[in-house]
Amino acid sequence: MNYNRKHCNKNKYYNPDYHTMTSKVYFAPFKAKKNSENLAGMVTRLFEKAGFDNCISENDLTAIKVHFGETGNTTFISPVYVRKVVDSVKKAGGNPFLTDANTLYFGTRSNAVDHHNTAILHGFVPAVMGAPVVIADGLIGKDGIEVEVNLKHFDKVTLASACVNANSLMIVSHFKGHMVGGIGGAIKNLGMGFGTRAGKQQMHSDLNPVVDPVMCIGCGKCIKWCPKGAITLTDGKAYIGPGNMLWMRRMPYYMRPKGH
Ligand code: SF4
Repeated sequence: MNYNRKHCNKNKYYNPDYHTMTSKVYFAPFKAKKNSENLAGMVTRLFEKAGFDNCISENDLTAIKVHFGETGNTTFISPVYVRKVVDSVKKAGGNPFLTDANTLYFGTRSNAVDHHNTAILHGFVPAVMGAPVVIADGLIGKDGIEVEVNLKHFDKVTLASACVNANSLMIVSHFKGHMVGGIGGAIKNLGMGFGTRAGKQQMHSDLNPVVDPVMCIGCGKCIKWCPKGAITLTDGKAYIGPGNMLWMRRMPYYMRPKGH
């Protein structure tokens, strides 16, 4: 997926009808008869076939949006494939950098230092990738730029500054099941992934966790998981008070007990 600000008509991009347009989707087979057809080679061929080189101008600061993976996680896109994207961007004349914004939840990517260290641990280092890592929303996730979108949920959103200031942008995404979205892939990786921490908070603000009283057996296990003491047991059922919602919204989904 590629979006180039230079070649994109802004009004068209923000027109709600634009979302109904379909894109051409390319697939690559797993089998290979020669070296250039192995999976890494297929990334290069997909890049060329999709005409991405036409979206990059000479000396463009080209952001390659990736997910560096949470420490210990192995399901991010391998640096072996991302390197091929870097090489293709360079061949097209761009000046690429790898980027992602900090997470809202407290993990190993919630500030730029931890984020960098996680990237290094997973092989995203300039010597391997041929491009540096730039954390898009800065040291503590506050380097954002407000962008007017006038869409259904928001008039304005706060995006990571490196995303807004880049001349062109490539998205390299894996997809996975997601508790709220069903499937999280390229759109989530771009939309949520390029929000600053405040922007991500804004996007999660409609998610009010509630306990299903039918499912809740009143075991009380969820109480110990909440360091803010937001959950109490009332009449044998877990209860999250309205005043405690803000913190609960920030709580990573995987830390939430069943029923929330
Ligand atoms: S919501 Fe809390 S108290 Fe209720 S069943 Fe789940 S863990 Fe136990």
